[in-house]
Amino acid sequence: MATYQRLPVSFERGEGVWLWDASGKKYLDALGGIAVCVLGHAHPSVGRAVAEQAGRLIHTSNIYHIARQEELAKRLASVTGLDRVFFCNSGAEANEAAIKIARLYGHGRGVDAPEIIVSQGAFHGRTLATISASGSKKVQAGFEPLVPGFVRVPYDDLSSLAEAAQEHRNIVAVLIEPIQGEGGIVVPGKDYLRGVRAECDRRGWLMMLDEVQTGMGRTGEWLASQLADISPDVATLAKGLGNGVPIGACLARGEASEVLAPGTHGSTFGGNPLACVAALAVVDTIEQQGLVQHAADMGRRMTKGLGEELSPLRNVREIRGRGLMIGIELERACAGLVSTALERGLLVNVTAERVIRLLPALTITPDEVDQVVALLGESIRAFDHG
Ligand code: PLP
Repeated sequence: MATYQRLPVSFERGEGVWLWDASGKKYLDALGGIAVCVLGHAHPSVGRAVAEQAGRLIHTSNIYHIARQEELAKRLASVTGLDRVFFCNSGAEANEAAIKIARLYGHGRGVDAPEIIVSQGAFHGRTLATISASGSKKVQAGFEPLVPGFVRVPYDDLSSLAEAAQEHRNIVAVLIEPIQGEGGIVVPGKDYLRGVRAECDRRGWLMMLDEVQTGMGRTGEWLASQLADISPDVATLAKGLGNGVPIGACLARGEASEVLAPGTHGSTFGGNPLACVAALAVVDTIEQQGLVQHAADMGRRMTKGLGEELSPLRNVREIRGRGLMIGIELERACAGLVSTALERGLLVNVTAERVIRLLPALTITPDEVDQVVALLGESIRAFDHG
């Protein structure tokens, strides 16, 4: 069905940050399948793990123990500092699990119609509950009636939490992105996440972070919440977790990790051996190759390079982000720039109408970072004159 307006290209093979189309033309991928291919394309560790597992066992069922799933849960708990994991197949599903956890948690405290604070500009997925939690009229339009139980507040505004608490007596949780991705790479002020944590502690709310785009080392930490030195009660992962093999995870600690009981939630495919070995290979490779630190270093190099390359351009308003999650906001709408860059062999994306978004593989080399910077500068100049 026509759910995507596709660009006129299809890729035949990839290696690291490079892709080749059917004619043999080479592209530098600064988007990584929208924050998915953290190890780059065709990474041998993932390929090997998936091929071996596919030859042995792809699926059994969650009605049995799944050793690889248990192993992955332990590894994720160890790198994130959270206690338990529910596995599913996408970011939207991981957020659905978080929303269900919040509601059960609320009911457990005697709140009959629990509400969750969400923010303007948020994106949490395309299911009915997650479009209802998202803060964009565009993703909601035509799908009303929306799922009730969400209270919307401005992002990066701590006083709005207290105001919401005054007006709504049934709030049990806050669900936000630590850095808004689809909303335009919106980085909150340095005290925001810590402030949300404190407000949640004070009021007994669950702090739930959607780390689907920011997680897996993207921002220079395993979770972006670690940049603020806080730990959420619930965090969701997907995208980079399987390097392209579909897998999502809802992680939780403390009381939030104990509300789901047998029969309350589930997934046929969630946490199957194939997806779990892919994710184990991703976690192992990120650790063994020090890619979290590398993402921080390459992010600094890219941001500095972009600053130098783009500062003479009048059309560039701001360069922002953390690690390898970078947004370049222009003065005007720039959706057409994606094609201008594509012609030059560079893959980027534009979100929030005028924010160019870069989410390359964490394995990107310094030389490749410099090539992204040069090609993007060329593309923006061409777009300005076009
Ligand atoms: N949450 C965030 C922050 C996202 O960026 C996305 C996807 O862009 C999602 C959730 C939805 O993930 P999925 O498309 O895997 O359902």
